Amino acid sequence: MCGIIGYVGERKCINILLDGLKALEYRGYDSSGIAYNENNEIKIIKSTGKVQELENKIDKNLPSYIGIGHTRWATHGIPNEINAHPHHQGKTTLVHNGIIENYVELKKELSSYYNFKSETDTEVAAALIDYLAKNNSKLEALKKAMTKIIGSYALAIIFDDEPETIYAIRKDSPMIIAQKNNDSFVASDIAAILKYTNEYYILNEGEIAKLTKEKLTIFNNNLQEITKDLKIYQGNINDIMKNGFDHFMLKEIYDETSVYQNIINTYFPNYDIKELINNFPNLSKYEKIKIIGCGSAYHAGMVAKSTLEDFANIETTVEMASEYRYKKIFPNSKELVILISQSGETADTLEALRIAKKNNIDTLAIVNVNSSSIARESDMVIYCLAGCEIAVATTKAYLAQVLILSLITLTISYNKKIITNEEANKYLFNIKNLISDTKKILDNKEEYQKLASKIYKNNCMFFIGREIDYAICMEASLKMKEISYIHSEAYPAGELKHGTISLIEENTPVIGIITQEEIAQKTISNLKETKARGSKIIIITTQNIYDKYLNDHFYEEIIIIKDINILLQSLVTVTPLQLLSYYVAKLRGEDIDKPRNLAKSVTVE
Ligand code: GLU
Repeated sequence: MCGIIGYVGERKCINILLDGLKALEYRGYDSSGIAYNENNEIKIIKSTGKVQELENKIDKNLPSYIGIGHTRWATHGIPNEINAHPHHQGKTTLVHNGIIENYVELKKELSSYYNFKSETDTEVAAALIDYLAKNNSKLEALKKAMTKIIGSYALAIIFDDEPETIYAIRKDSPMIIAQKNNDSFVASDIAAILKYTNEYYILNEGEIAKLTKEKLTIFNNNLQEITKDLKIYQGNINDIMKNGFDHFMLKEIYDETSVYQNIINTYFPNYDIKELINNFPNLSKYEKIKIIGCGSAYHAGMVAKSTLEDFANIETTVEMASEYRYKKIFPNSKELVILISQSGETADTLEALRIAKKNNIDTLAIVNVNSSSIARESDMVIYCLAGCEIAVATTKAYLAQVLILSLITLTISYNKKIITNEEANKYLFNIKNLISDTKKILDNKEEYQKLASKIYKNNCMFFIGREIDYAICMEASLKMKEISYIHSEAYPAGELKHGTISLIEENTPVIGIITQEEIAQKTISNLKETKARGSKIIIITTQNIYDKYLNDHFYEEIIIIKDINILLQSLVTVTPLQLLSYYVAKLRGEDIDKPRNLAKSVTVE
C-alpha cells in the first residue's frame, strides 16, 4: 500500500515526482503530496483524491531539484489533506508506507515537545526522528529510530538543515534505490523510475540509504558504508503503459497470451518435461502441501488444491495468510508450505513465511516481482513472469500463478510416476494450444460485452460451481465485486440450499461454472433449483458438457469453452470471467483500474 518516490539530481524534480506518483498510484490513491526544496526551504503541497488533483495545484517548472512524494492508502486517519503525507515535525519532513504499531505510546512520550496535527501514525515517526536528530548525527538518529519504532515502514526523509539529501530506511514495506548519471532515486517499486533507469538496489531492513546528487551511499546497521548487488529490471517501459487500451486491466487481460509464452520460453522451451524438472525444485519428498495466500493468490491455491490432490495425489490444504499467522502450527518435516504473492511483499504472506520458517517448515514462494522480500526469504522460489501488473484487480498475474501451480502439479505427478514421459510432454504441448485458445476468447470480446449488458444493472449476483469450479467461482466473484461494486457471492453449488438460496429473487443473476463432467449434472440441478426461484441463469461450460447435458435451454445465456484437461481447464475458464467483470464495471462507469477502498500490493497487515 502507498507509493513513495524521492529524487535528487540535476533535473527539475516536480515532474519526476508527479510521474513517479502516477506510476505508483495503483498502490494507493486516496490522497497525495510532495515536499520539495525551493531555495533551501522545504515546502509541502498536498491534495485529497488522485495524483491529478495534486498536479493541478503545482507549478511543474519550479526551480527545485530535490523532493519526496507519496500517494496514500489511509490506515490511520481519514483521507484528508491534514492526514496526507508528507508529514513535518521540527526540521524533519517524511513520507511513509506501513503502520507504526506503537505510535500511541510514542506520541505520548513526544507530546510535550511536539504539537501533533494529524491522526496518522506517520506524524509520530517524523517527531521521533526529529527529536533523535537534535543530539545525534542524522545516521545515528535513524539507527536509533529503527530500534524504537515497532511495525512496518518504508520512510523517505528530508531534513531542513540538510536540504540537499534524502535519507531512506525500511522494515517490511518495500523500497528500492537507484542512481544513474547524477540522478538519485528512492521508490516503492521500479515502475516509478523506469523512465530513467532499470538498474536498482534493494534496501534491506536495518540499512540506511543516503542520496545526494552525486552519490548514493548505503550504510549497514553499524553505520559502515556497504556495497550491494545491482539488480536489473527485466521488463520494459511498455509494461507500465496502457498501449492504446482504455484501462490497464484490459491491457493486462490481453497480455495473458504473452505471459504463457514467457513461461514456456523460460521453463520448458522444447515442451520437454525434463527441462521443466531441471528448472523447477524437486518436491517429490513432501507428503503434504499447504498453500498460503491472500485474495486472488488464495483462490489460485484453491484451484491447485484440486489439481494437486486429483492429479498428483498429494494432500493439500489452503489457508489465508491473515489466518495462518495467528493459528497453532503443527511442524511437519514432510510438509511443504507454498506462499503465493504477486508483489512478493504482501505483509500477511510475508509474516506467514517467517512463521513457517521459524517452525522449520520448508517454503517455496510463487511470486511475480523479482527479488521481492518473499522471494528472497523463501527456501525456494518460482517466478510467475507475468511482467508488471498495474491494475489493482489482478488478471494476468493470477493466471500465471495458476499455471505455475499446474506445472508444479505436473512435475510431482511425473516424479511419482503417476504419468509417463510422453503423457507429461503432451500436457506441456497443450500449453502452446492454451495460447491460441486464449486468443480466440479475446477475439470474441463482443460476446462478453453483450453478456455484461444483461447483468450490469443488478446489485446482487451469485457464482456457483463444485470443486475446482467453485475455486474458479471465488476468483470470478471477487473480480466482479472489486471493480463493479456489485454484491457478488461465490458458493459451492450444493451448499446454496442450506440457507443462502433465500437471497435469490426474480432476476438475480446466477452464473454456473461447469467444467467437470463427473459432477456436471449435480451443478445443473442446483442451477435449476435457483431457476425455480426466479434467477437469471448464465452458464460457462465446455463443449462436451454442453453437448451431453445442456440441450434443454433452461438458461438465459451460455458461454462454451474448449475442453482441455484438468491442469489447464481453469485458465481458459477464468479469462472470459475476467472480461465479463471488466465490461460490467465499464457499463457501470466505475474507475476500473483504481477501485474504491483498495490498493495493490497490500503491505500492511
Ligand atoms: N499508516 C500511514 C497512514 O495512514 C501510511 C499508510 C500507507 O502505507 O499508505 O497515513
